[in-house]
Amino acid sequence: MFHSRHFNCVPLAEGIYVLEAKEQGGAMSNAGLIDMGDHTLIFDTFNTPQAGKDLREAALYFFNQPIKYIINSHWHGDHVRGNQHFSEELIVSSSTTRELMMKTQPEWLNRMRNLLPNLDEDILKLNASIDHEHHALKQKELSSELSYLLEIKESILTLKVTLPQLTYDRKITLHGSARTVELLSVGAAHTDCDTILYSPSDSIAFVGDLVAVHNHPLLVDGDPISWLEALTFIENLNVDLLVPGHGPAASSPYIQQIRQYINDLISISKQMVVENALMDVNNIEIPEPYLHWKFGSIFYRNLEFLIKTANR
Ligand SMILES: [Zn+2]
Repeated sequence: MFHSRHFNCVPLAEGIYVLEAKEQGGAMSNAGLIDMGDHTLIFDTFNTPQAGKDLREAALYFFNQPIKYIINSHWHGDHVRGNQHFSEELIVSSSTTRELMMKTQPEWLNRMRNLLPNLDEDILKLNASIDHEHHALKQKELSSELSYLLEIKESILTLKVTLPQLTYDRKITLHGSARTVELLSVGAAHTDCDTILYSPSDSIAFVGDLVAVHNHPLLVDGDPISWLEALTFIENLNVDLLVPGHGPAASSPYIQQIRQYINDLISISKQMVVENALMDVNNIEIPEPYLHWKFGSIFYRNLEFLIKTANR
């Protein structure tokens, strides 16, 4: 089996793998590998060049054939920063996603390069704290924080912003000798434009960050109302298996949990606006169904965003 410090390789069907981000390492989000028969297709490229390098190696390890298409589901860095290892292949995204990458990624890299001295300082401090920490659990937490910072540092030093060369607007169908898959733009949802990959013959959809499993989905860069419509669109595809951007693959009824989450947050935020509550969202407790989802801080960012947009 292929081994990477960034992800675990999970087979979903004959010729289809999800590469699930490990808690530590430079992946941060999931990627997909699809054997099209005469070539390989890759869905998303992780958060860092170093994870992207392993992604390339995994694709060649599992399917000993040329890699042809790389899909970027949306502009967020944790789905596109491995692109540079595929500059010889064809990177595909929606035209809006490419524009947003152009707008955000070079700027992010410049900002992060300027922050390198601070990052070095944080790394030194963390190393010292780990040496002085005798509590095993705390030491483990500090070590995982350190490994995160080291991954970020490596990525800033090595990243070359690499944009898609082929863009599409609504739908593109890709044919291989063994399967045909569809890229579908669902419009504004998690971001201003999100792409899903649908394989009708496998009843599998790679849905990017339109679905997060046991993770708080991030609402602040998109449009929660049209996101709800996008979820209905995915439901109507009648897929058996959904591959989320974060968390393990899930069956289609899981979509209802994301719909419920968005609706719950909209109603909490509306209530806060109506009551003109002092806008300290931190007084709100995360509702029980979402209490154990990862990245609880995103819940508060989401609420602040919804209150702000309701006030507009
Ligand atoms: Zn995202």
